[in-house]
Amino acid sequence: MGRLAPSPTGALHLGNVRTFMAAWLQMRAVGGRVLLRIEDLDHPKHKPGADAALLDDLRWLGFDWDGPVLRQSARLPAHRAALARLPHYPCWCTRADIQGAQSAPHPGEVLRYPGTCRHRAVPPPPGRTPAWRLPLQPTDDGRFDDAFAGPQTRTADQLTGDFVIARGDEPAYVLASLLDDADSGVTDVVRGDDILPVTPAQNVLADRLGLPRPTHWHLPLLVGPDGRRLAKRHGDTRIAAYRAAGLAPAHILTALARASHWIAPDATVGSLRDILPTFDLLATPRAPLVWSDERL
Ligand code: GLU
Repeated sequence: MGRLAPSPTGALHLGNVRTFMAAWLQMRAVGGRVLLRIEDLDHPKHKPGADAALLDDLRWLGFDWDGPVLRQSARLPAHRAALARLPHYPCWCTRADIQGAQSAPHPGEVLRYPGTCRHRAVPPPPGRTPAWRLPLQPTDDGRFDDAFAGPQTRTADQLTGDFVIARGDEPAYVLASLLDDADSGVTDVVRGDDILPVTPAQNVLADRLGLPRPTHWHLPLLVGPDGRRLAKRHGDTRIAAYRAAGLAPAHILTALARASHWIAPDATVGSLRDILPTFDLLATPRAPLVWSDERL
């Protein structure tokens, strides 16, 4: 069983669509099920109405899913119950504090927490909500074999250090999405490789909670001609913009499937299902996909 897990932080764009196509095709190719989960835990970047627009764009492209649309926010009691089972300590460091303690992370990496608050009893700064971090133990590891990206050789301690599992009483993404996947029986997680550096942390949580680790497939993201992650500066790649310009869904699916080597370079498809006969996730180029609208 697989899943699509959009965050309602903005409109659906080509980068998400390529990853969702991979997740959907990978499951449908083996007759598997696909869930749709909106990752709508409170977040400052969430835009009102974004979830309805996301679903509308996904349906327009021809995605389907099994069962009702799931909402992460409906699962808060389960997240909080798991949080209570995990050791955690309060951390009052700001991002600037953590940055000041080390050199900037390399692209594709996350800021490693050096453990500053672990052994100090700092009085809480007035009015601030603590971040709760999991104290890593030497037995925690989190390394894994990514089904697409290959063996991952760095441990959670090397990548994230003691990582945040909640802010105030709001569970963090790493914990919430792990629990939601495990409780709904998701076995295969296909997602963008921007999340690769926190996957060892997620594996540590799975191990600590006695939950199965899913098989992970981390795919490279779409980038602009300048090599940076596809964003507004590269033009409007929102599905809504292509719809408004009169482009057909089949046109977008064909362009992304060709660029991903899931169909022959001169093949065209009318729907997602038409990609299935030649689909091979492992044929996807390993390098980030450089996008320009000339591909359309
Ligand atoms: N909600 C995340 C996002 O939209 C994806 C998380 C995941 O696939 O695990 O980036």
